[in-house]
Amino acid sequence: MNVAEIITDKRDGKILDADRIQWLIEAYSKDEVPDYQMAAFSMAVYFQGMDLDETVALTKAMVESGDQMTWSNDNTRVDKHSTGGVGDKISIVLAPLLAAADVDVPMISGRGLGITGGTLDKLESIKGFRCEMTADEFRYAVNASGCAIVSASDNLAVADKKLYALRDVTGTVPSVPLITGSILSKKLAAGLDALVLDVKWGTGAFMKSIDEARVLAKSIVDVGNKLGTKTTAIISDMNQPLGNMVGNAVEINESIDVLKGHGPEDVVELTLELGAEILLLCGRVPDLESGKQKLSSLLKFGDAMKKFEQMVKVQDGNLSAKRPIAAQTTIRATETGFVNRINSDRIGLAIVEMGGGRKQMGDTIDHGVGVEMLVKLGDEVEKGQPLAYIFCGESASGLPSELVAASFGISPAKEDVANLIVERVRI
Ligand code: URA
Repeated sequence: MNVAEIITDKRDGKILDADRIQWLIEAYSKDEVPDYQMAAFSMAVYFQGMDLDETVALTKAMVESGDQMTWSNDNTRVDKHSTGGVGDKISIVLAPLLAAADVDVPMISGRGLGITGGTLDKLESIKGFRCEMTADEFRYAVNASGCAIVSASDNLAVADKKLYALRDVTGTVPSVPLITGSILSKKLAAGLDALVLDVKWGTGAFMKSIDEARVLAKSIVDVGNKLGTKTTAIISDMNQPLGNMVGNAVEINESIDVLKGHGPEDVVELTLELGAEILLLCGRVPDLESGKQKLSSLLKFGDAMKKFEQMVKVQDGNLSAKRPIAAQTTIRATETGFVNRINSDRIGLAIVEMGGGRKQMGDTIDHGVGVEMLVKLGDEVEKGQPLAYIFCGESASGLPSELVAASFGISPAKEDVANLIVERVRI
């Protein structure tokens, strides 16, 4: 095969057959195609897109570019993936909650990406918690606790590791077929029966409009199902942080509140929606309402929390060790009115500026910094009323305070607030 021909055909808008896509991805994974040609190919895909069959072939080739997990029992295996948001701690609650509902959750998760926090960074604020595991350790952990949350090992979805790093520096991340292949290759390599996607739209999300979120959700749902994993998606709002806490240790504390049957309403609502969708998808409940009821009682009666404790222990974490939270500063309302705007991206950026996220690969994370949101969109506030606490050690003066303060928009009349759950995307 000729790489230059594959690139020019895609550049000219031709449809590539599965053999050519399979060959290209395999050769790139084995370092037989150089980065500069793959960058040109990614740019061609960025501009010309791919149809469903091409995206299926791309995703399949990416899954097959590395190891695929095998399991020695017939348990039902499920997972959830979010396209990333600010304050999104759902995976930390949902994995043990689904395990308590008697399905296995081998969750391969990620670290923070830009302004969006990462599940693994949050979990590592638990002393000793180990996200890096071999395939055997991962298998053991899932069999022991019903769930485990780990990072993708070097041998899993090898093409995505190389391609994602390349796309990151060549302006080719925001391409629906490339995102579809990237997300699904990591998830499907775990050997899942069912997968639910939380595709977020809004100021704190990758997709800034509902329409963009719809296109991505449909692509992932179609490709996941074509490759034999029952897949659905929920489109959810990210125009304000999810829950009250944003950061690492503070989000673990909030997740534990939810696992103990308390916690913010929006986190509980989205957790139950996504969880019920999964249970319905794998035939464990007759409808969404009974799924939600079942999961709600597993939170209330402590079953989910027990699973979480078990998972943390198996992954060498110590929940009783004190988690660091830096000293707090208060951000106050500068006028009286209604909170009509919260720029989640600025809150996410403030976390990164304080060291709670990475500016460069390899930066160490400060688990103790964070922001506590004291108001939600639509709330009425008075001048001087606290809007947020910033946890930033000695002082939060300067950039993080300005970013957090500037994220709030207060105006005299109340505006409509978008629904948290926008819609479901199924085949
Ligand atoms: N998350 C991923 O894993 N891959 C992408 O391409 C974008 C978001």
